[in-house]
Amino acid sequence: MSGLITCSHVDFGYENHDAVVDLTMEVEEGDYLCVVGANGAGKSTLVKGLLGLLAPTSGKLELADELKRTGIGYLPQQTAAQKDFPATVREVVLSGALSRRGRRFFYSGEEKEMARRAMERLVISDLERRCFRELSGGQQQRTLIARALCAAGKLLILDEPVTGLDPRAIQDFYRFIKRLNREEGVAIVMVTHDVANMVEQADKILHLQQKVLFYGNVQDYKKTRAGREFLGDREV
Ligand code: ADP
Repeated sequence: MSGLITCSHVDFGYENHDAVVDLTMEVEEGDYLCVVGANGAGKSTLVKGLLGLLAPTSGKLELADELKRTGIGYLPQQTAAQKDFPATVREVVLSGALSRRGRRFFYSGEEKEMARRAMERLVISDLERRCFRELSGGQQQRTLIARALCAAGKLLILDEPVTGLDPRAIQDFYRFIKRLNREEGVAIVMVTHDVANMVEQADKILHLQQKVLFYGNVQDYKKTRAGREFLGDREV
């Protein structure tokens, strides 16, 4: 089975309030899926659901066995507190392995090797002893992606990842993500408002407005009313 996550008629919600309704979609191995929609459309709720932090109120959500074993890498929206983290790059990346460390006090050799590889993949090996809070926004972003990869290498979920980055760092970011996706087969689920880059990068689009307005490939999205309205007059 190539499906990493399968949602069949899934609802997610809070108490008496449905935030995502009747979602049917699949994240397959190697996918690059962008999730778009207006504020309040249910995007963050979906992310919580995919990460297993919120159970579906209805429908069926299935995770591939491999994903249950290895987990999902997650890059949250950046907060000011994160930017000020008083640890070295290597420590931040290694902390990605914390969730599987359990009661052990020390990191295993395997975890250290994963961290080394993740830093290599994001080209930050030469920064490993630098303090995280002294890095540029783009370098911090790469460190956090390496951290998420250290947690899980099969699927990365990113929530509005380019907010606050300068244009150069944004281009670098997309280059790294595309390389991870195309060359290393890491599946990407990205919540984004960055329309221009989204249509260039993604294979699939999920447009949410509580319900699914569109789910499918980018070419087809451009032909739909939802797609034309969301993408505006942009030449795409
Ligand atoms: P988006 O990420 O697309 O902006 P959200 O998933 O944050 O949308 O929100 C979807 C809906 O769920 C909104 O109506 C929001 O007010 C509501 N909501 C989000 N978080 C909670 C919560 N913790 N408790 C109750 N309602 C929530």
